[in-house]
Amino acid sequence: MDHERIAGQGRTDSSYADELDARDPLAHFRERFVVEEPDLIYLDGNSLGRLPKATLLLAEDLVHHQWGGRLIRGWNDSWFAAPERIGAKIARLIGASPDEVIVADSTSVNLFKLAIAALRLRPDRSQVLTDDLNFPSDLYGLHAATEMLGARHSMEIVRSSDGIYGPEADLLAALDSRTALLSLSHTTFKSGYTYDIALLTAAAHEAGALVLWDLSHSVGAMPIDLEVAGVDFAIGCTYKYLNGGPGAPAFLYVRRDLQDQIGNTIPGWMGQRDLFDFGIAYQPAEGIRRHLTGTPPVVSLALIEPGVDILLEAGIQNVRAKSLAQSAYLIELWEDLLAPLGFRLNSPRDEHRRGSHLAIGHDEALRIDLALIQEMNVIPDFRAPETIRLGIAPLYTTYRDLHSAVMRLRSVVAEGRYRQYRNESPVVT
Ligand SMILES: *Cc1c(COP(=O)(O)O)cnc(C)c1O
Repeated sequence: MDHERIAGQGRTDSSYADELDARDPLAHFRERFVVEEPDLIYLDGNSLGRLPKATLLLAEDLVHHQWGGRLIRGWNDSWFAAPERIGAKIARLIGASPDEVIVADSTSVNLFKLAIAALRLRPDRSQVLTDDLNFPSDLYGLHAATEMLGARHSMEIVRSSDGIYGPEADLLAALDSRTALLSLSHTTFKSGYTYDIALLTAAAHEAGALVLWDLSHSVGAMPIDLEVAGVDFAIGCTYKYLNGGPGAPAFLYVRRDLQDQIGNTIPGWMGQRDLFDFGIAYQPAEGIRRHLTGTPPVVSLALIEPGVDILLEAGIQNVRAKSLAQSAYLIELWEDLLAPLGFRLNSPRDEHRRGSHLAIGHDEALRIDLALIQEMNVIPDFRAPETIRLGIAPLYTTYRDLHSAVMRLRSVVAEGRYRQYRNESPVVT
C-alpha cells in the first residue's frame, strides 16, 4: 500500500483513515449499495454481501411486472436464458469463456455433481486429495461422492501445520499416480489462505489427476484465471463478494473440452436437449446447460446480475488493489492497537497468499464478537474456536470502517465489556 503519510498524522489516527478514503478511486461505489444504518460497520461481506440499489429496483420489476404481469411469458422474455447469461458474466470475473460457466443449485450441490463426474473420468484411480482448511460442506460432499461410487476411493485430508497456511508442499508430495481428484478451496474460509491455482493445477495434471476448485471466498474479491491455469472444474458462491443475496444460487465451471465427456450427476429436464419434447430418454443438452437439473429459483437467480455488473464496472484488478491496500492498513492497525491486547493475526502475512478477509484470534473471541454485535454496532463473524473474521468488501468497505472497528474492538477488551456475555453462540455466527 501507499505508505506515504500526511505530515503530523500517525497511521492510527482517524484522520489518516479519512485521508485514505478521500484518495480511494473506488469510494463512490459505496453509493450503489443500500446502507440503512450509516453507523453500522459491516465487515461480513465475505459471508453475505450488501444489497445493491439496482437489485432493489430489479426486485420490484421482477416480482411485480415480470412475474405479476408477464406470467409464464417471462420464461421466453428472459428467465430461461438467465443461468447462462449470468454465468457468462461471472466467467469474465474468473478468466473463463462465456460458455464454460452456468448458474445452478448451491455450491455444495455443484461440488457433489462435479466430484462424481470427475471421479468417473478417472476410473482407475483411487485417491481424492484435499486439506483440512477446506469448507466442511466440501469435505462432506467429496466423501459422499466416494461412497456413492462404491467406497473404492480413499480420501486424504492433508493437515495444515498451523491452521493458517495451506499445506501446499504436503499436497504436492501427496499427488501421485493414484490421485483421481485434487479439490480445494481457493481461499480458505477461516484463515483466508489463498492457494496458487496455477501451480497446484499444473502439479495435479502432471500426476494425471483432475482439479476441482471452490472459488466461493475469492470470486469477486480478486482476479482468477481458470483458463490460463487449465483448470478442469470449479464452483463458487454468489451471495458473498458477488452480492447476489441470501441463498442465491451458485455457479459451476467446466472446461470446454471436458463438457461433452461428462454428464450431470443429477440429470433433470432443464438440462435435457429438447426439453419440451418431454422425451422418456434423457439426452443431455449441448455444452454447459446440461448441468442444470430442475427449474432454477428465478427470482433469486435474476437478482444476482446487478451485483456482478457492478464488479465488472469497477474492474476486478481495481477491487483487488483496494482489498490489498485495506488489508495492509488493517494489519498495521492490528499491530499497533490490537496485538498489545492479546489479539493474534490468524491470516497469512504474505499478501499473495491472502484473500479479502482477516482472521483475528483471541482467547475470548466469542464473547468479544457478541459484544461487538450487541453493543458496538460492528458486524464481523465468529468461527470457532477463537477466530473473529473481518471481511473487506472493497466496493463498500471504507478505511474509516476499518479504523472504527479496530477502536471498538479495543474498547470491548480494554474496558472488559465482553465479560457480561456468556460463551454461547447463537445459531448463525
Ligand atoms: C460459503 C461457502 C460455501 C457455501 O456453500 P452453499 O452450498 O452455498 O451453502 C461453500 N464452499 C465455500 C468454500 C464457501 O466459502
